[in-house]
Amino acid sequence: MNNLLKRTTESITSLPGIGHKSAVRIAYHLLKRRGDEFQSFIQSLIDFRENTEFCPICGSLKDKGIPCEFCDNPARDKTRICVVEQPTDVYVIENTRDYHGLYHVLMGVLSPLEGVGPEDIRIRELMERVEKSDHLEEIIIATNPDIEGNATAHYLHEVFRDRATVTRIASGLGIGSQLDYADTGVVSQAFRSRISMG
Ligand SMILES: [Zn+2]
Repeated sequence: MNNLLKRTTESITSLPGIGHKSAVRIAYHLLKRRGDEFQSFIQSLIDFRENTEFCPICGSLKDKGIPCEFCDNPARDKTRICVVEQPTDVYVIENTRDYHGLYHVLMGVLSPLEGVGPEDIRIRELMERVEKSDHLEEIIIATNPDIEGNATAHYLHEVFRDRATVTRIASGLGIGSQLDYADTGVVSQAFRSRISMG
């Protein structure tokens, strides 16, 4: 393998979920693409990277300089906040079209083994939002149904149980399945049959 191909495939395999074989195929595909198509592909990555930011309130992705489609949208139901691990989880739930409330992205989960404590993810920001909210009735915890996701859900329940009804989406997603890979139907069902954590 020539040096440039080697370097390119190494860069591509650094992306999540892409092994060596796929990387070689992608590199070869990029080489064959028409010049203008390739430029437009690269430009879309540059634009995405330079003009995307996290909403300072909910943590979801948004275009720089424009209002958040959730926090700044008067049509969203302000009585509910759905708590998720990653910004991409927001789109999985949005795809179900069942939920019209607000979101809060934690940017991770509690993980004592990896030294991730409450101060390392966006729990303080959630506490501040909950404190300031006049309308909040329900906090829906949609962290993944694995050990860390469950531990995070229990922690949040302890913190917020006196302030709102804390519900957990039904763990119909299966052990080890990630929220961002589950089908829309499964997520929709898990969301509708969410249960109060007590
Ligand atoms: Zn927002």
